[in-house]
Amino acid sequence: MMDSPQKISVTLSSALREAAETLSSNRIEQARLEAELLLAHILDVRKEDLIIHSEHELPGPQEDKFRQLVERRCRKEPLAYIVGHREFWSLEFAVNPKVLIPRPETEGVIERLLNLAEDVANEKAMRILDVGTGSGNLAIVAALEFPRARVTAVDHSVDALEMARRNALRHQVADRIEFLKMDLMREWNLPHNDLYDCILANPPYIPTRELEHLMPDVRDYEPRAALDGGSDGLACYRRIVANAFSYLKPEGHLIFEVGTDQAGPVKQSLQAHGGWDEIAILQDLSGRDRVVSTRRALG
Ligand code: GLN
Repeated sequence: MMDSPQKISVTLSSALREAAETLSSNRIEQARLEAELLLAHILDVRKEDLIIHSEHELPGPQEDKFRQLVERRCRKEPLAYIVGHREFWSLEFAVNPKVLIPRPETEGVIERLLNLAEDVANEKAMRILDVGTGSGNLAIVAALEFPRARVTAVDHSVDALEMARRNALRHQVADRIEFLKMDLMREWNLPHNDLYDCILANPPYIPTRELEHLMPDVRDYEPRAALDGGSDGLACYRRIVANAFSYLKPEGHLIFEVGTDQAGPVKQSLQAHGGWDEIAILQDLSGRDRVVSTRRALG
C-alpha cells in the first residue's frame, strides 16, 4: 500500500513569505504588508502577533483560507473589501462593495472642518450635513470630533446608509446622526427649518470616460455611483454649489474634496453662483489641490 502524501507543516513565516511572493508577482505593491493583513484577518490577531509567533504552525484549514484570500487579492479585489474594514482618521470603518473605501486624502476635509469650526465648536451644538456619506466616515468623525454636534448624513444608496449606520453604532455616535436617503443630483428634500453650520462632501468626481482607465481595484470593484462625476467630472459640484447655499446658515461653511485639476473649475462655479466668500484651496500631503472650502456670505 502506498503512503498517503504527508502534508508538510507550514509555519506562519513560510506562509507569509510565499503569499508575499505570489502577491508581488501579481503586481500588488505592498505585498508583504498585505500578506500580513490577510493572515492576521484569518487568524483574528493583530499583525504584530504574526511576527511574535512566526514559527507557529498554520493549521490546514486556515492555510487553505489564506490561499483563497491571496488569490482574490491577486485578482485585484481591494484588501479593504476582503477583510471588511479600512482605517480612516485612525478609526476602523466597516466597508463592503456598496460603499467607497475611505481614502487618506479625504481626511483633509476633516482637517479643514477642525480649523474653521474651532471658534464655534465648543460653544454650541453645530449642525453638520455630510452629502454622499458612503461608509459614513466623514459624518462619524465629525460627530466624534464635535461631541455636541448633530449630524445629518445623506446618500442615494440605502445599502450605503445601512453601512454608515452600522459604523455610527460601532463608534457610539448613532444617536447624534440622522441618516436620510437623498439623491444629491435631484432637488434636495431636507427639512428647511434647521439650517446647517457646515456642509461636507466628497462627491463622485471622476469624468465618466476616465472610469475605464482607473486601476482595476477601483474600476472593477468600487461602486460606480460613488465615482462617476458625469462627462466633465464636475456634475455633482455644480449641484452642491447651488443646493448647499440654501441649506447653509449665513457664514456657514461648505467644505469638499476635489479631484485632480478640479479646484479651479470648482472655484469658478462658486464665483459664478455668487454669494460665496472666503474661497480657499488646500493641498494634500503630495502637494495636490485636494480640498475647497468656502463660506456663505452674510448678506
Ligand atoms: N463620504 C465617503 C468618503 O469620503 C463616500 C464618498 C463617495 O461615495 N463618493 O469616503
